[in-house]
Amino acid sequence: MPTLVYTESALRTPDAVHDEILPAGKGWLHPIKAGQHFRILDLEGNQAVDTLFYNAADPGDRYDAVNTIRTQGNIFLTTGTRLISSEGNVLLTITADTCGRHDTLGGACSAESNTVRYALEKRHMHSCRDSFLLRMAHSREGLTKRDLAGNINFFMNVPVTPQGGLTFADGVSAPGKYVEMRAEMDVLCLISNCPQLNNPCNAYNPTPIRLLIWDPPPAG
Ligand SMILES: [Zn+2]
Repeated sequence: MPTLVYTESALRTPDAVHDEILPAGKGWLHPIKAGQHFRILDLEGNQAVDTLFYNAADPGDRYDAVNTIRTQGNIFLTTGTRLISSEGNVLLTITADTCGRHDTLGGACSAESNTVRYALEKRHMHSCRDSFLLRMAHSREGLTKRDLAGNINFFMNVPVTPQGGLTFADGVSAPGKYVEMRAEMDVLCLISNCPQLNNPCNAYNPTPIRLLIWDPPPAG
């Protein structure tokens, strides 16, 4: 078990301007305005929440895992991490985290990765890539598969061995753990609440998440 640092938020759930439960296997595309706080809450524990962010004014400018890792000099995301776009802009900053570690190396599960990682007959199982594409197809912004990029896996634990190997390990999250971030510009958030039944990251049991948004505190 790694040493993890936890940071709690002072925001109260009754004050949220948006409060929604997203079942496992569902996609979600939602704007988050500059200054708003956005919380993803792991209701039952060890759920993988595959997430992408876009600059709302220019969705071609989107979350970039390499820029984010290079900027902070660390492969894990937690409080203080600035989520950097492909054009070098700060999309959001993580301001609270009671899980302590989130992955941005493992990517999203897909029909292809299901067959490579698990078994050929897993090909037709529901995947995050499918949820992303389905939600994009219904987007007003006209997002397409060209807008898919390396994503964040909130609550997923992917430790790296001294040899540089990726290990998809048991989760470090638990019921009620959350991660919270402040939008530094108007962004779009695209989520696939992972339907994966073959990965120990979520204990083979995909579960719902809660999504909350707060308006910025009044000035002064
Ligand atoms: Zn997935």
